[in-house]
Amino acid sequence: MGLKGHLVWDKRERQEIEEFSNEYKKFIEFAKTERLTIAYFEDLLKKSGFIKVEEFTGVEDQVYLANRSKSLIAVKGNIKNGINFVVAHVDSPRLDLKPYPFYEESEIALVKTHYYGGLKKYQWFSLPLALVGIVVKENGEKIDVCIGCSDKDPVFVLPDLLPHLDKEDNKVSEHFKADKMNVVLGSIPLQGEENEAVKKNVLKLIKDKYGIDEEDFVSADLELVPALKPRDVGIDSSFIGAYGHDDRICAYEGVMALLNAQTSENQKAVGVILFDREEIGSEGDSGAQARFYKAFLRKLLKMRGISDTESALDEIIAKSTVLSADVTTLQDPSYPEVHDKINAAKAGYGVGLVKYTGRGGKGGASEAHAELVARVRGILNKNGISWQPSLLGKVDVGGGGTVAKFLAQEGFDTIDMGPGLLGMHSPFELVSKADLYETYLAFKVLLEKL
Ligand code: MN
Ligand code: MN
Repeated sequence: MGLKGHLVWDKRERQEIEEFSNEYKKFIEFAKTERLTIAYFEDLLKKSGFIKVEEFTGVEDQVYLANRSKSLIAVKGNIKNGINFVVAHVDSPRLDLKPYPFYEESEIALVKTHYYGGLKKYQWFSLPLALVGIVVKENGEKIDVCIGCSDKDPVFVLPDLLPHLDKEDNKVSEHFKADKMNVVLGSIPLQGEENEAVKKNVLKLIKDKYGIDEEDFVSADLELVPALKPRDVGIDSSFIGAYGHDDRICAYEGVMALLNAQTSENQKAVGVILFDREEIGSEGDSGAQARFYKAFLRKLLKMRGISDTESALDEIIAKSTVLSADVTTLQDPSYPEVHDKINAAKAGYGVGLVKYTGRGGKGGASEAHAELVARVRGILNKNGISWQPSLLGKVDVGGGGTVAKFLAQEGFDTIDMGPGLLGMHSPFELVSKADLYETYLAFKVLLEKL
C-alpha cells in the first residue's frame, strides 16, 4: 500500500465509487460560487444536528460558524484534547463583474470583467457563462442572481476574434488581454431611445426581472462562471469534468468526512475550516489569514467553561492537526516535461501527500514535518487507503501555495494533501472518481485517528 501504491479501481467496488461521485456531482453543479458552497454546507450541517455558534449554550458537541457567508468553521467533539481539521478553500478562478460594468459599443451591450485567480485567459473566450451572485440594495435587501443556471436561461459569452482577422503571431500571454474580456449582454435597442439604446434596453430588462438599478451593481458580488454541467468523462466514465473542483472537491470530502467521522469523549475533536480568497493569497476577513476561526475556537473554550485566553487557545492548537486539503496536479500525459515523473501523482492511485509546496529553493514553501508525514502514512497504510507522494512540478517549474503556511504559522501541525486534477484552473477540470472517493476515505480515517 502507499508508495507505488494500489490502483483504487482494483480494490473498491465500482458501485460505492459511483454513489459518492453522484452525490458530489449534485453538489458541484449547485456550488457555483463561494456563497452557494457555504449555503449548501450550512444546510447539510444543520440537517446533521450542528447548531450555529450564536445558539451554543456550552453543552452541544456539534457547532459551526458561517463567516460572512463565504467561509466556515465546524467542530464536533471534545475540543480540550485538540482538534483534527480538514481545511480547504471554496473560491475558484472566475470572472468578476467590475463595479460599474455596463457599456455599449457598435450597438451591442456588454459588461466589463475583472478576472479572479490564476487563470489562462484564452480558456474563457467563446465559452457559455452564467452570471451568479448577489446584489445588495441601498436598504440592505439582498437579491440573488443566477442567470444561465437553468437550461431555459440565456447564457453569456466573451466572443473570441475570428481566426481570419487574428493572424498576429503573439505570445498567448500577450494575445489575450484582460481589457478584451467583455461579455455580450444584448443587441436589441430600447424603442424611442437615441443614445445607448441597447444598453438601456438591457438595464430595463434587468430592472423588470430583478428590480435592480444600474447603481446597485456597485454593491454586488457577481461572478461569471462556466455554464457547464458536471459530466462523466471518458468512454469508461472514470473522470468527472466540472468547474470548481479546485478546491470545492476537498471542501466536500472534508465536510462528508466530518459528518461521518466517529468521535468519543476521550478522543480529539474533529472539524473543518473552509476559507475564501485562497486563489488571491488568502487575504481579507474570510481568507486563511483572517481571525474568525480563532475567535470561534475561543468562544467554544469560554462557553465550555475552559479559559479563553490566547495561551489556552495555543495549548489546544498545539494538540491539533491540520490536513491542508487542496487539489494537486496529476501527471499530464501530453506534458511530461513539466513533471518529475516519480514524484507526480497518477490518476486512480488515491490521495496525493504533498510534503511541501513552493518552487526553486523551496521559497515560500510550507513543508510538513517528517513525524507528521509518518503518522499520516501509517494510518493510511493500516486502513488500506491508497495514497501517493505528489509534488506540483519540476523543481524550478512548479509553484503554487495553499492555506497550509497560514495554519502552520499559528502552530498547527500541518500537512498538504488532496486529489490530483488534470486541467486545474480551467473552466472544466478533471478528477478521477477513484481519487475523489479515496480522498474522502483518507480524510475520514485521519480525522478519527490522528
Ligand atoms: Mn486550491
Ligand atoms: Mn487553485
